[in-house]
Amino acid sequence: MEIHDPLVTDPAVLAAMQRVPRERFVPEDRKLFAGRDAALPIGHGQTISQPSLVAYMTQEARLARDSRVLEIGTGSGYQAAIVAELSDHVYSIEAIPALAARAAATLRACGYDRIHLRQGDGYHGWPEAAPFDAILVTAAAPSIPPPLVEQLADGGRLLIPVGEPSGPQELMLVTKTAGAVRTRALLPVAFVPFTRAGE
Ligand code: SAH
Repeated sequence: MEIHDPLVTDPAVLAAMQRVPRERFVPEDRKLFAGRDAALPIGHGQTISQPSLVAYMTQEARLARDSRVLEIGTGSGYQAAIVAELSDHVYSIEAIPALAARAAATLRACGYDRIHLRQGDGYHGWPEAAPFDAILVTAAAPSIPPPLVEQLADGGRLLIPVGEPSGPQELMLVTKTAGAVRTRALLPVAFVPFTRAGE
């Protein structure tokens, strides 16, 4: 879809947003609203994120073709598809089995057959596939999971909404340069909660 957000200016990201058909990632009874720049329910208490925010996070990840990218919170699979338009090595983890299965089917049906998908608790990252040039977390955590910072490559960028589920959240950018980790807030956001296995 077309993005109109002054924060999103990267032409490659805008083109990727145009190429991925969001309606394919939205449940049947919400397809009418797929073209809106809004989050939509996808079942199991979860949502497909707002497209301009998907675009902004993708832009701030500064992806290249050969980037290794990890997403936590596959959800509908939409963000993973956008990332796969720009990078060849995409990994995504989803906690809820039914959503993980549905996203796998949707992504396959849309021709994204090279995305590596896993069902589980993304807190632990994907150590066997690390390090990652970019990690995108699409659920709000109370704090930044240390395993994700560990799995960031040198020069890597981790984008994660941080805050309490019903309180204020900030989209944080964590960078690692020559081993030094820096964190800064980018934007106030509202995401569904990051959950831990067993909660
Ligand atoms: N990126 C998704 C947005 C999904 S909403 C999209 O484009 O559609 C966030 C998702 O994160 C939900 O599906 C939720 O189940 C998942 N999630 C929450 N905590 C998680 C965790 N610890 N590990 C993996 N997935 C998690």
